[in-house]
Amino acid sequence: MQENSDETEEGRRPSSALRAPFPRERGEREDIAIIGGGIIGICAATYLTEAGRNVTIFDRTGICEETSSGNAAAFAFTDVLPLAHKGMMRQLPTWLADPLGPLTIPPAYLPKLLPWLIRFWRAGRGDRYETSLAAQAAMMRLAEAEWMGLLDRSGTRPMLREDGSLELYESEAEFRASLSGWAARERYGIGFNHVEGAEMAALQPGLSPRFIKATFVPGWKTVADPKLLGKAVWAHAERLGARFEHARVARIAAGADGATIVLADGSTRKANQLVIAAGAWSHLLARDLGERIPLETERGYNTTLPKAAFDVRRQLIFSGHGFVITPLETGLRVGGAVELGGIERPPNFARSKAMLEKARRFLPGLDPSGGREWMGYRPSLPDSLPVIGRARAPNTFYAFGHGHLGLTQAAATGRLIRDLVLGQAPPVGLAPFSPQRF
Ligand SMILES: Cc1cc2nc3c(=O)[nH]c(=O)nc-3n(C[C@H](O)[C@H](O)[C@H](O)COP(=O)(O)OP(=O)(O)OC[C@H]3O[C@@H](n4cnc5c(N)ncnc54)[C@H](O)[C@@H]3O)c2cc1C
Repeated sequence: MQENSDETEEGRRPSSALRAPFPRERGEREDIAIIGGGIIGICAATYLTEAGRNVTIFDRTGICEETSSGNAAAFAFTDVLPLAHKGMMRQLPTWLADPLGPLTIPPAYLPKLLPWLIRFWRAGRGDRYETSLAAQAAMMRLAEAEWMGLLDRSGTRPMLREDGSLELYESEAEFRASLSGWAARERYGIGFNHVEGAEMAALQPGLSPRFIKATFVPGWKTVADPKLLGKAVWAHAERLGARFEHARVARIAAGADGATIVLADGSTRKANQLVIAAGAWSHLLARDLGERIPLETERGYNTTLPKAAFDVRRQLIFSGHGFVITPLETGLRVGGAVELGGIERPPNFARSKAMLEKARRFLPGLDPSGGREWMGYRPSLPDSLPVIGRARAPNTFYAFGHGHLGLTQAAATGRLIRDLVLGQAPPVGLAPFSPQRF
């Protein structure tokens, strides 16, 4: 996560870390260690702690401080289409031609990215597309049910917003091109209404007349603020006994007697079981276990404006431009875009500015001043499905690669990891999510 911010390291750590950086005796064996305190690690820790297990999260930054902190806040339960669908492939040449457009690949990164791109392209074809679609739809049904339960158990339901979303089109051609995607969603029971004129204006007053049609999706939900939600769910886990250690994990090993975690300061921790939920860095840890997983990062950018910047009634989606506007409790967030540029390149905040400039044109009257720019790293597999399953190494589980949907699928992932760790039958088939599917 990259942000123009003056927040201190200390200010980012969770309360337990401030009170007692590592409350157990050094050298004591962990029951379950989770690497990664993003929304996936938080939810896995919560489900396992609720099941009575002793869990410690290890994170180099804090709880919900990186990609999970600044995303677009959508519970996108109706977003079941794999990214590599045919419509998107058609748009690629136009998008790639604009260096600040919805999709960028820095030329120097292309050779490294190429194998992933080839897998991505294959995933959008025929049978594979249908398999991913069916798996994603099953995952989304679980995702919604699990989040609703977890919001209640953690006392965070007031952070849920059930306003739906409005996807906007600038031409008949753009609208018509979207119809096959809506038909695919309809097959999975997803409700939507195509709207125009007064109906569209009532759903979002003040839109530019360049938008001629829209699709309203009532089942789309958002949260008041993803960072506040992650921290509140963690507070629930902490109350039940989950713990945090502020440390970067340098190396891991796993065997029949459990896992060894080597921290950046050279000290080690032992755990009976290990969960890797380190977002866009997870494949680096999996490599220590001898597994190569084709995880890439789709870097995304946004600007969070003061709340008063514009009265946005629900999440607005500009698919043709690859960004959304989300009204949060803490501001108005304008952003999205995909930059397939790896984990080391510095951010290019000109991308945030380009989307903000478009937002100003799409919502005449929007005040673009006073914003905070941010970049996050979507952890993405080429078939748009996460990795949720057992590692080849014993006593180790993977929970990463949720791409654009990590917030949406976090509670379901927590549930599935709990089932795997406890040896219980999961409620959805895990083959499409297998770490060994590539
Ligand atoms: C612009 C943008 C908008 C998005 N909008 C949405 C949305 O609306 N809805 C949605 O569902 N999803 C959205 N996403 C995707 C979502 O944010 C991600 O899928 C999700 O945050 C990934 O969570 P995570 O826990 O896997 O990873 P992260 O949040 O990245 O957490 C991983 C953690 O692991 C830690 N870590 C990594 N390596 C190590 C190590 N070696 N030692 C110690 N700690 C380590 C990191 O410090 C980090 O805290 C968006 C993403 C972006 C960029």
